[in-house]
Amino acid sequence: MRRFFLIVFLTALLGLPLNSLAQDSSFGLEEGDGPSLLTAANTQAQPVQAAPAPAAPAVTAPAQATPDPVEAEPAQAAPALDQVSPPPAVVEPAPAEVGSAPTADVSVPAATAPVQAVAGSAPDSVEPVQVKPVPALVLAAPRKAGVGKPFLVRLTSDLPMESVLIRWQGREVVPSISVWNDRHVALAMLGTDVLTERPGKEELVVVASVAGKENTLRRTVRIAPEDYPKQELTLPEKMVSPPKEVHDRIAAERSRTTAAKDTVSARRMWRLPLERPVQGKILSVYGAQRILNGKPKNPHRGLDFRSPMGNPVKCVDSGRVILVGDHYYAGNSVYVDHGNGVVSMYFHLSEPTVKEGDEVRRGQTIGLTGMTGRATGPHLHFSLSVQGDLVDPAPLFTSTADKLLR
Ligand SMILES: [Zn+2]
Repeated sequence: MRRFFLIVFLTALLGLPLNSLAQDSSFGLEEGDGPSLLTAANTQAQPVQAAPAPAAPAVTAPAQATPDPVEAEPAQAAPALDQVSPPPAVVEPAPAEVGSAPTADVSVPAATAPVQAVAGSAPDSVEPVQVKPVPALVLAAPRKAGVGKPFLVRLTSDLPMESVLIRWQGREVVPSISVWNDRHVALAMLGTDVLTERPGKEELVVVASVAGKENTLRRTVRIAPEDYPKQELTLPEKMVSPPKEVHDRIAAERSRTTAAKDTVSARRMWRLPLERPVQGKILSVYGAQRILNGKPKNPHRGLDFRSPMGNPVKCVDSGRVILVGDHYYAGNSVYVDHGNGVVSMYFHLSEPTVKEGDEVRRGQTIGLTGMTGRATGPHLHFSLSVQGDLVDPAPLFTSTADKLLR
């Protein structure tokens, strides 16, 4: 008798993943999506996703409320072609957020789906064999993203994918592929840079090779205007217009920081949401249009966090330290590569506590807060490069992967 109950219990347990998968498959169905190949279970009423929220309300810039710590605009984005060598055969344990089933956005009919043998049918049966169409490839990506905002692209396949290549703004992104519940998932972070991007339409192209066949999926992403604040600041003149004798130094630093910012490595080590580097509130938001000593300058391409002198600064996720330097604008800086084109940067440190080449873990201290470089008071400037674009990091501290796919 007891054994019977044990079997019932085990059966229920085994059945569970299948049920939850079927329900999860309906997540993220977007209003206005074309016909989907998903089955009835996937077309149940969905809460229609509201348009992406405007800039997080928590990050309004109290420009004058504090002693206006400011610093450098990081190096200008040179539209570099980020190349990674062969599509990674990296199979990593899928981070939790990959777990949810794919959004039914664009499906490619299962050209490569194996014909399933019908049990019991005679080999010479004249009855047509029913080949049930399965969504072999499902692309999830938002149809709209604000200027400067990061977003995610996810490709899910029932069959192993030999390679996935994403084309975005002249760059080629090769996401690592992980396996979750017998599904093959490629997840990439993309975005635009407030310095260079204007509202309009951008084409996203995903090329995936599945069972020897190449599939191309396309998506138009509308880049919507964002209402970023203006910020007027007064600084020592040499920090606004650097004297001639430091021009060479600044140029040399820029080439090193640009190379670090454009780093693309094959293994994804980030997962969302990212961990905040410090707990203090945000003093200056990403995108703030800066007017320094009356002169319009580049927008602020990072977040300024309140952080007292000597406060430990934590790494937002695991990765590898690729640059530690003392730079004219940014002061003591640490750059950490999180893989697949995501690089985090920490500026104005009083001292870094890691060195180039170090492997760091999520939450590990990488330096102490300071006011080195162009800063009028201790604070942490944090920037995030995504495929070479400096994007607004704010949504990444609060959003799950699923939210950033819509
Ligand atoms: Zn800043």
